[in-house]
Amino acid sequence: SDLSDELTKAIRTIPDYPKAGVQFRDITTLLGDAGAFRRTVDALVQPYAGRSIGKIAGIEARGFILGGAVAHQLSAGFVPIRKKGKLPHETVRVAYSLEYGIDEMEIHRDAVAEGEEIILVDDLIATGGTAEAAVKLLRQMGAKIVSACFVIDLPDLGGRARLEALNVPVNTLLAFE
Ligand code: 5GP
Repeated sequence: SDLSDELTKAIRTIPDYPKAGVQFRDITTLLGDAGAFRRTVDALVQPYAGRSIGKIAGIEARGFILGGAVAHQLSAGFVPIRKKGKLPHETVRVAYSLEYGIDEMEIHRDAVAEGEEIILVDDLIATGGTAEAAVKLLRQMGAKIVSACFVIDLPDLGGRARLEALNVPVNTLLAFE
């Protein structure tokens, strides 16, 4: 579409970052472009306009920027999902595998109510490992995950299929093959 073409052009690709062979999709250029940023947020919220959503859960760190804007536009609350050790109150924690080794993410124990409708937001889905861990955390707390939204899909890495296998509907705005 015209929108995905516009947003694709607003994203900068950095070769060999953070390591050789990786093409890093840098969204800071999109965020710095007022029109592109606004249209990104508008497109992320569009499927849920007029629907009552309890909270947006954003994954550290770029999911905070997008998720905060999405929460505002849907008049929803915002919940941060963070790397371990950053949240000050009691947390629920989940371990997930990275390319090398494992990491842990957490959420405040009282951040989500049983049965509350949540949308998960991040900038990009690759293997889906990060989003899957966030889904586990939210479900452990009794949340109902309405969907997971990302600006960028890397379909070759299978993340969308992985989330859909968990019965999480996935919305993305553009893809890089
Ligand atoms: P996954 O767990 O799906 O393999 O990786 C997705 C996570 O890594 C997201 O939190 C995302 O922000 C980050 N990530 C991985 N590759 C990229 C990239 O090329 N660009 C950006 N902006 N984030 C990436």
